[in-house]
Amino acid sequence: MNFTPVPDFPSVTPSFQAKLERLKAIVDEHLIPLESLMLAGNQDALEGALAPVKALMKKEGFWLPQVPKDFGGQGFSLYEHGLISEQLGRSMLGHVSCNCQAPDAGNMEVLIERGTPAQQDTFLKPLLTGEIRSAFAMTEPEHAGSNPVIMSTRAVRDGDDYVINGHKWYTTGADGAAFFIVMAVTDPEAAPHEAASQILVPADTKGYRHIRNIAVMGETCWGHNSHAEIEFKDVRVPVSNLIGKEGEGFKIAQQRLGPGRIHHCMRWLGICSRAFELAARYAANRQLTHTQVLGDQQAIQFWLAEMRAEIESARLLVLDTAARIDREGQYAVRNNVSMIKFHTAGVLQRTLDRALQIHGALGMCDDTPIAFWYRHERAARIYDGPDETHKRAFARRLMKEFE
Ligand SMILES: Cc1cc2nc3c(=O)[nH]c(=O)nc-3n(C[C@H](O)[C@H](O)[C@H](O)COP(=O)(O)OP(=O)(O)OC[C@H]3O[C@@H](n4cnc5c(N)ncnc54)[C@H](O)[C@@H]3O)c2cc1C
Repeated sequence: MNFTPVPDFPSVTPSFQAKLERLKAIVDEHLIPLESLMLAGNQDALEGALAPVKALMKKEGFWLPQVPKDFGGQGFSLYEHGLISEQLGRSMLGHVSCNCQAPDAGNMEVLIERGTPAQQDTFLKPLLTGEIRSAFAMTEPEHAGSNPVIMSTRAVRDGDDYVINGHKWYTTGADGAAFFIVMAVTDPEAAPHEAASQILVPADTKGYRHIRNIAVMGETCWGHNSHAEIEFKDVRVPVSNLIGKEGEGFKIAQQRLGPGRIHHCMRWLGICSRAFELAARYAANRQLTHTQVLGDQQAIQFWLAEMRAEIESARLLVLDTAARIDREGQYAVRNNVSMIKFHTAGVLQRTLDRALQIHGALGMCDDTPIAFWYRHERAARIYDGPDETHKRAFARRLMKEFE
């Protein structure tokens, strides 16, 4: 970090550029018109309407952009995926229409990297085709999620089974998920980062209970967009459902969270870009006086200028980090990942706040997607590590260079 090389962005071929333009057109034409179904909570109608768009995404080569070709994905580099994800992020339905939404994308990655052939057959294959969804259950209401080494969920070996007991919350997508990757302590005596393991638990296993979908900022969502409180009571699964080795839970979680964080940043850039478009359009057209529109006011001009500058700078940092990960691997650029996680989350929050203010009362209701994102993406500064933990880790590593 002390010596920062000149950013080296890979060149984008004309055919990839054309793909991005086509994707933008699909999002505008096919997904944005469906957002009102999502905002109205019309789940059945939305799922029906999304099915042909998913088929179109498959046909046009956008399905599973983050997954290697051997597993039926597009095999894009992380840098290319960043550009794709930015376009998808312009709609709240973008990622789910291509099966690259969290937490499924992360779970696919874990199963591709660490799953046994049997685990891949049972859990990964239907996830890749979009037949099922999944969830990742690590955080517990009783303990600090920022430092999850303190965890009450236990998996105790009994013959060829694990018996799992635990209480989790904010398990994204749990409502309707077919299986969970559960973080559970398998050896309480081991060193803190070697005590837990990741275990696959089908949702229809006896003893699993969905307690509730948590109301986030007053809105109880459903399906892939829900966050649930769940319980595992004497849940019994075969030892063959262990991912990797016993005690590797945190190691695998880190492998999963690195790309997961950059995927979020890329999606947030898409949200920023749409919020900016909406704000600029509103400012340029909202009649304020007989001779002036809202955008003639200097305050609004300053906000738009600041929004754009912040979005562009975050975009360069995120794409630069993606390109570096492609070249050097995620460990080498972990500082950049920490930096873009809190920086982009901050840009997102400020962009949404300014876009909402520019829209006045319209910004407060669900006639635009801004209020939805304002509610849901406040959590960007909390999930996958709160701002403070990333800043702390980043600053400590920065100081090391000067000791
Ligand atoms: C919308 C949403 C979706 C989520 N999805 C999932 C999921 O799918 N699966 C899952 O397992 N978990 C999920 N989580 C949980 C998330 O990972 C945790 O909320 C997060 O790790 C923070 O843990 P905590 O909420 O327990 O906060 P705590 O650990 O109690 O921390 C509270 C606050 O303290 C501050 N803080 C923490 N550490 C430090 C520090 N070292 N220095 C200074 N300040 C600090 C931060 O501001 C933090 O927000 C989700 C959370 C949200 C909000």
